[in-house]
Amino acid sequence: MSSAGVLDRPLLRLEEALERMLDGVEPLPAEQLPLLAAQGLVLADALDSLLTLPPWDNSAMDGFAVRSADVAAASPAQPLRLAVRGESAAGRGAPAAVETGTALRILTGAPLPPGADAIVPVEDTDSEPGAAALPPSVEVRQPAAPGAHVRRAGSDLVAGRRLLERGTLLGPAELAVAAAGGHASVPVHPRPRVAVLATGDELVPAGEPLAAAQIPDSNSVGLVAQARAAGASAAELGIAGDERAQVVARLREGIASADVVVVSGGVSVGARDVVKEAFAELGTMELWRIAVQPGKPLAFARATRPADGRQVLLFGLPGNPVSSFVTFELFVRPVLRRLAGDLDPLARETLSATLDEPVSKAPGRRAFLRVRLALVDGEWRARLAGGQGSHVLSALVAADGLAIVPEDIDELPVGARAEVIRLRRSAG
Ligand code: AMP
Ligand code: MG
Repeated sequence: MSSAGVLDRPLLRLEEALERMLDGVEPLPAEQLPLLAAQGLVLADALDSLLTLPPWDNSAMDGFAVRSADVAAASPAQPLRLAVRGESAAGRGAPAAVETGTALRILTGAPLPPGADAIVPVEDTDSEPGAAALPPSVEVRQPAAPGAHVRRAGSDLVAGRRLLERGTLLGPAELAVAAAGGHASVPVHPRPRVAVLATGDELVPAGEPLAAAQIPDSNSVGLVAQARAAGASAAELGIAGDERAQVVARLREGIASADVVVVSGGVSVGARDVVKEAFAELGTMELWRIAVQPGKPLAFARATRPADGRQVLLFGLPGNPVSSFVTFELFVRPVLRRLAGDLDPLARETLSATLDEPVSKAPGRRAFLRVRLALVDGEWRARLAGGQGSHVLSALVAADGLAIVPEDIDELPVGARAEVIRLRRSAG
């Protein structure tokens, strides 16, 4: 497909653009990583337990291991006295079996001694909780049913049984259960690598003094942070001026080092918008211009990394900071989630809200309005978080979500319902 053909096309619908971007994108090849290096990654294969846990019957309480028949008649008025034959502590085996008329002191997690079938909690005896010295005998003041306070072997994990399914996102609980099941490492899809390039003669790195006609490069910071929030590892390629050769040189670095290169700015129809030509020089331009607001001009191309022949995806996002943010969330994030092995790369938290003020937008494009949310009498209400210009970062930072207004609607009145993509938790 020639670049000229791509550039002549009408605006693409969002779904069609996404489908074309995700086409042929596969999860990155699995790697075996130590548990704590796998946090936030997606499991590449199902994981089975190597162990049965607990490995043996053990005590759920600090108390005394007894034969339940011995204490069936115990009560506060008529306690029963048992000889204490030793102690079963966590990390050590039981020193003796429990015979009729005897007990073993037992600590939480310690193996149930042979002969015992129940635990009498220390609170139901005359023994001092936490006493160091082993008493010669113990007075039992309550009966214990067979199995009382006993955790059975295998009541949590069983060797050979499924622990975690393929595609599971590994958070703290998942990593803990993998460790409990005997694993030190897990097969995961690695983090996609993202390289972020800013383009524009007016840009200087954040925090540097500004000469006339200069502004800080805020997109690089925002896009690297978005990529990380989407589970990727990301780095800046710096700032390229509005010169094709400069953009091409930085893009080559990105293609050599990353799975996805995200460029901001220089993608529209201005005389100095050189990103599309740079993409065409290094790869194949696949699409440009999508029917969304903000963010209409968006270039997508595929290139091949010379060193290993792997595909690298190139995104040219519009330079306006809100457009760059929104188009990353709509298009780049799903691609990163697919590379990361996420089984549902398009999943997002959405809610339905009632508009507290009328809104309007450009015809023919799907709008993503920056809104603030409030929960009023159990119903989500939305109002604009500030100016909807695509340069107004202050309204983005004030927003809890993006309210979606469909292509064929130009305005919505107060009281209309809208679907909202949640960006953060609002106070509610
Ligand atoms: P462009 O897409 O290059 O036409 O840029 C559109 C608007 O976004 C212009 O006002 C640029 O100054 C601004 N812009 C472009 N890149 C950045 C960036 N990295 N950081 C902040 N603003 C930018
Ligand atoms: Mg520019």
